[in-house]
Amino acid sequence: MTMLHSLRLAGRKNETPAETQMKHQQTLMITQEASGWELPSWQRQQADLITDPAELLAMLDLPVESLPDALSAATDFPLRVPRSYVALMERGNPHDPLLRQVLSVADEMVAQPGFSADPLDEAEHTAVPGLLHKYHGRALLVVTGACAVHCRYCFRRHFPYQTHLSGKRWKQALEWLAARPDINEVILSGGDPLTLSNQRLEQLLDALESIPHLRRLRIHSRTPVVIPERLEVGLKALLTWRRWQTVLVLHGNHPREISPALVERCRDLRSAGITLLNQSVLLAGVNDRADTLAELSDRLFDAGVMPYYLHQLDAVQGAAHFAVSDEAAREIHAALRARLPGFLVPRLTREEPGEPAKTVLAG
Ligand code: SF4
Repeated sequence: MTMLHSLRLAGRKNETPAETQMKHQQTLMITQEASGWELPSWQRQQADLITDPAELLAMLDLPVESLPDALSAATDFPLRVPRSYVALMERGNPHDPLLRQVLSVADEMVAQPGFSADPLDEAEHTAVPGLLHKYHGRALLVVTGACAVHCRYCFRRHFPYQTHLSGKRWKQALEWLAARPDINEVILSGGDPLTLSNQRLEQLLDALESIPHLRRLRIHSRTPVVIPERLEVGLKALLTWRRWQTVLVLHGNHPREISPALVERCRDLRSAGITLLNQSVLLAGVNDRADTLAELSDRLFDAGVMPYYLHQLDAVQGAAHFAVSDEAAREIHAALRARLPGFLVPRLTREEPGEPAKTVLAG
């Protein structure tokens, strides 16, 4: 029972005007405080991201000498990382695999042949602003340009969000979906859809649920990996009791990202009937070892999350230093298969623009 609730119950019919006035003031104060307490922890964390590379390095006891180069690489796609994610990094280790995913490096400034701003030709697949139609029966909604973390390997790091997220926002996309009975699955993407408030998500899910031919909802998000508290009761309520079964695809790349807090919350969602999958990107210097990926699969399974895809890097400008050759990727995957039961081995895939499905390099 909250203090506010207790106060209301303690009200007496014969209290004096002064007592009533005092109680009113106390109630106002408590209401204001309570609204602070009630702001979900994940939203407070999202409002308090680290955006200054010098602060990040100081938190990790790392020298700042290399920063000038790194900073110029980050002007278009600045640092953005939650404190809870930084807490998972190893102090004093400039090669920490979690740090590598968020801290810009001078290599990003070097143009590399074959790497472009739109590696998947998404501009070609834009049906209406905010809606991409690449594969049969499925459509992808770009619901926001915001992310709780900026990942240096992100294939949408140059995505023109401003042209997709106009004032009309989702209206056009919803109209397009309603007029296309051949689409039966909607994928919420971004940006990161779980950076939206529950209220905004609820509006969108209600609108989607009212389109009768939609049978599946999939949400792709990295937010829970960096802020596990995002998987809170309000979200669970939003995702359950729908006419469809929701699939939540997490984007975890390293076993250390599957923290005890994330495991606990994933188990809770799993027990509520939400299907949980994980997809990773194979990243040089982060997870390009079979033992790292095996540990990631083990931890995901402990959390009730099935490893789903291991993606080859999309050739986005600024991320070439993360690339692993197909030959090396297949070797890592073969070693993973030799170590794990088949159901814990994600499929090694690559997305090729214009292809009707992802290309499986090793299953
Ligand atoms: S959270 Fe996803 S969309 Fe956002 S920067 Fe990272 S990879 Fe890109």
